Amino acid sequence: MNKESAVISILERSGWRVKRSAENLSIRCPLAPYTPLHRSSVDGRPSMGIKVEDGAVLINCFTCGFKAGQLSYLFKRLAHHHPAWQPAVDACEQMEMDFFVEGLTFLKTQGYLPTPKKSSEPLEEKVWLALSSEVHPYWGQRGIDETTVLRWGCAFDQDKNRVVIPVRDQAGRLWGGVGRSINDQARPKYLNYFDMRKSDHLLGAHTIDQAKSIVVVEGAFDAMKASQALYRAGLSQDYGVVALMGSSMSTEQIRRVTSFAYEVVLALDADDAGRQGQQKAYDRLYKLLMTRRVDFRSQGIKDFGEASDAQVVKLIKEARLM
Ligand SMILES: [Zn+2]
Repeated sequence: MNKESAVISILERSGWRVKRSAENLSIRCPLAPYTPLHRSSVDGRPSMGIKVEDGAVLINCFTCGFKAGQLSYLFKRLAHHHPAWQPAVDACEQMEMDFFVEGLTFLKTQGYLPTPKKSSEPLEEKVWLALSSEVHPYWGQRGIDETTVLRWGCAFDQDKNRVVIPVRDQAGRLWGGVGRSINDQARPKYLNYFDMRKSDHLLGAHTIDQAKSIVVVEGAFDAMKASQALYRAGLSQDYGVVALMGSSMSTEQIRRVTSFAYEVVLALDADDAGRQGQQKAYDRLYKLLMTRRVDFRSQGIKDFGEASDAQVVKLIKEARLM
């Protein structure tokens, strides 16, 4: 029996209906009776996605937020609420032993794609310090508050009249920046700083302090807007936001996001380029980890830049697996 069949067998023996899509399984969340987040004690639609990998079984309920890297963690949680689940825990652990699973450690330490040879060195911090640290009033006009500007470590370029968002990796090392003119007539509207190769980086990676769900957007302002809404809603432990600085996701960006994401929530713009980029990214990502898609059309908008805080949270929470 292959691993997926073994997982399905255990799920069905537990009395759950398993829905199968191309690469994911889903079930109604069995934790629904034990968490107020499900509102009623039954999960009305299958909220819990299950992805069978060689080294892990990734589980994510996007209603109550339960996440795990092995199936036995789910059964252990159930056994914690009711001892009748203990035999299922044992059966599941036996299955995991049989398949030599290594769990989240595998996901966290290895990532899914090999690390390429480092081709360049990060920039020296002094190039950033040459910019002004003032929080320019332009941010307010774009609906971004001082807390967010400071959290993202943005700067202001007095020579070029641009607010500048840094491009740093997860360790905080500086690789470049994106400067937005504060004057809408100025061209170009966006300017890359310090000769950065955009497709090698994820803008916002420095705001991700631990593995979590990662929302992927196109532009810097959409990223900051979404990050701000999640932060205000108290959800920044669960979600982080990064921007591609374009509408297509490179292999390097995919490698980077899989190194710190439990799941990816794709939220590229609802226009032709964005939809195309989103489909291409989805086709590669869903084979690697849980991948959901935001549907901006449900709110009649194009991106997070047009969304209220409540809409940002709703769109992310309601992003679907297929
Ligand atoms: Zn749940």
